[in-house]
Amino acid sequence: MYKELINDINNQLTGSSAEEIIRTCAENFKDKLVFASSLGLEDQAITHIIASNNFPVSIFTLDTGRLFYESYDLIEKTESKYKIKINIFSPNTNKLQELVNEKGINMFYYSIENRKACCEVRKIEPLQRALKGNNAWICGLRREQSVTRKDLDIIEWDENNGLIKVNPLLNWTENQLNDYIKTNKIPYNTLHDNGFPSIGCAPCTRAIAEGEDIRAGRWWWESPETKECGLHKRG
Ligand code: SF4
Repeated sequence: MYKELINDINNQLTGSSAEEIIRTCAENFKDKLVFASSLGLEDQAITHIIASNNFPVSIFTLDTGRLFYESYDLIEKTESKYKIKINIFSPNTNKLQELVNEKGINMFYYSIENRKACCEVRKIEPLQRALKGNNAWICGLRREQSVTRKDLDIIEWDENNGLIKVNPLLNWTENQLNDYIKTNKIPYNTLHDNGFPSIGCAPCTRAIAEGEDIRAGRWWWESPETKECGLHKRG
């Protein structure tokens, strides 16, 4: 059933704008559609589209407990500008305490296994909690962002989380996104002005040099193929 629905919506949406994609999905999924904002430029653009069109889509973000100060600041600025509520999902206290007490507070640097365990507790479990009971979620993924995102579709089945994933900005280029943010005076993380094109948790994100891949500052000690936190893993 979902396969047919996905094909139908994908056909309807060929050549549509991000706004049209979100409107169509809001009509199809009603109050079972949520937007997971990671507060990056893409997600700020989506928040702008949702808020300025009054689309009935609730917005949430994951507070891993290790975000940059600037990211927390951006949550407040965005809520205040658009007069919206961004729902915050935090890690489960017991699971987090167990992990850091067993493996160390900065254990993510010492192995991919540790890093994935940290992402599991701080991001994946809270994401699953946030998605529970919904039929579809919106994400700000773009094809250009990394080798692991090249073959995504606008609407696709998210096997890991058991619901439909909507990628309204999939075909946007970096220039298009930057122009959209500037033209619409959308609030964004000030770290973007200091060499951080992609921002996640503070200990796992660094500034990059000009010409480096836009995801090179995330988990820079790992190879590009392993660089997904699991939130957008396929199959
Ligand atoms: Fe932990 Fe780093 Fe993953 Fe954040 S990005 S959850 S700090 S491993």
